Amino acid sequence: MTEHDVLAEAGLDGLPGGGLNIAYEALDRHATDRVALRWLAKAGGREDVTYAELRRRSARFANAMASLGLSPGDAVFVLSGRVPELYVTALGALRAQLVFCPLFAAFGPEPIRVRLAEGRGRVLVTTQRQYERKVAALRSSLPDLAHVILIDGEAEGCLGWSALVGAASDAHTIAPTDPETPALLHFTSGTTGAPKGALHVHGAVVHHHQSARHALDLRPGDTYWCTADPGWVTGTSYGIIAPLTVGVTMIVDEAEMDVERWYTILEEERVEVWYTSPTAIRVLIRAGEALARRRDLSRLRFAASVGEPLDPESVVWGERALGRPFHDNWWQTETGGIMIANVPGAPIKPGSMGKPLPGVEAAIVEERGGALVEVTAPGVEGELALRPGWPSMMRAYLNAPERYAKCFRDGWYLSGDRAKRDADGYFWFVGRADDIIKSAGHLIGPFEVESALVEHAAVAEAAAIGKPDAVAGEIVKAFVVLHQGVERSAALDRDLMAHARRRLGPAVAPREIAIVEELPKTRSGKVLRRLLRARELGLPEGDTSTLLTSKGDEP
Ligand code: ATP
Ligand code: MG
Repeated sequence: MTEHDVLAEAGLDGLPGGGLNIAYEALDRHATDRVALRWLAKAGGREDVTYAELRRRSARFANAMASLGLSPGDAVFVLSGRVPELYVTALGALRAQLVFCPLFAAFGPEPIRVRLAEGRGRVLVTTQRQYERKVAALRSSLPDLAHVILIDGEAEGCLGWSALVGAASDAHTIAPTDPETPALLHFTSGTTGAPKGALHVHGAVVHHHQSARHALDLRPGDTYWCTADPGWVTGTSYGIIAPLTVGVTMIVDEAEMDVERWYTILEEERVEVWYTSPTAIRVLIRAGEALARRRDLSRLRFAASVGEPLDPESVVWGERALGRPFHDNWWQTETGGIMIANVPGAPIKPGSMGKPLPGVEAAIVEERGGALVEVTAPGVEGELALRPGWPSMMRAYLNAPERYAKCFRDGWYLSGDRAKRDADGYFWFVGRADDIIKSAGHLIGPFEVESALVEHAAVAEAAAIGKPDAVAGEIVKAFVVLHQGVERSAALDRDLMAHARRRLGPAVAPREIAIVEELPKTRSGKVLRRLLRARELGLPEGDTSTLLTSKGDEP
């Protein structure tokens, strides 16, 4: 088969002159009057941008970059909220074979500096407010950063978006692009330590496209809403690239999460496919089922979740409150796209991540006699590993070749997560390898403990860690956040303990349960168990640059 045949089979076109470019697959090949991006402004109001118009704007951006002297491989960073210019920057950079790197808008100066320095950002697209508050003072420490483009306003040493990009020509043909050309730089969430920069190539679009069809049920013309911010890999792979390659209308909401606003969007925009996260789902659950039931969500065809384990309770809640269960899927910044999923049409086992997508080989592996072996017996826990070779796999950890090399062993990519597979081939998440609790000879996954706790009617969120103990090595300690309006009491404490013992048995049930106001989370919404452990032991907190509540961060 020729390169074109292979792409055609994958539902893609390939560049007319050969090669593969994400922006071409996302825009040029179907530049029509269909709405590509429906932007809902924070302050009210909206803008519909068609595929043809988004192609034109991205072409202007690419031409503007050429006028600044940028060449393929240079890195373009963006630091802004969810506004159309962010999407234009991403697609414009990709069409010019520049490397696109999104920064989460709420980062403070230090996470911004570290990422720009590591990724050798040549251009930063941002807003006047972001620039003045966070970037201006860093400029002298970033010698590679040649140009800052302000979407709005003015500042010394910066270029204006409208004069530079708005005024550029919209005639632009994408140059032949080798599929191995670097395209995207994504930093991991920093849940287990300092964030790593994962580099992905244009060829990744094959997996973005196919996985969106398989795992998210995306179809041309759908109205689709991915709630992840493009500052994280989900918000780019499935919040920009995959949906556009399929030809859907993407909802982009500028505002932060608000329960009523979210239900209004689902109802009034008639969202058909919705991709969100366990953290957001738990916020909805906390706000109560009645709010959802008041809405007409009959257009919703498919709902999916990623980013953290989705407890069975949340899956079932979706079915009850929204009329659709949440389909959990699993992947990482490194894998670039969905690997394991509960796909449309297949029975869901609540609490399971589902099965590997076509073309993905996943396994549970274990170290035996100095080598990695695949564990085939059902129900046995081990490390979740993938056979390398799918197109959206990272090609490098930026500036960390040894760390990258360490991810591969005996023909497997090691995910750093622990899981098990059942007799039907479904995968069940156990916990991150770093978070596994070792108590009196048992290995206990925090997810099991947390899932049991959130089943209790008073509990909204839970996190479990291992606390050092002279006798058991570690004991399980849990932190729980109560539902709004639930009063603390000694009776509740006792009831929580009794519930946990009943559900988990005495060996796995937490020995201590602390009720807290909130759990420490990364900015991408993941529970930072390492921080709970450090705090419990009075140890230094390690890298907290992506901590949600860290001081000095503001949108
Ligand atoms: P870091 O690698 O910097 O510690 P991180 O692993 O949280 O941060 P991401 O790449 O954003 O960074 O997250 C991927 C991880 O999130 C997975 O390895 C897994 O631990 C968790 N995860 C994602 N989806 C799921 C899921 N459906 N079920 C359970 N865990 C999930
Ligand atoms: Mg990780």
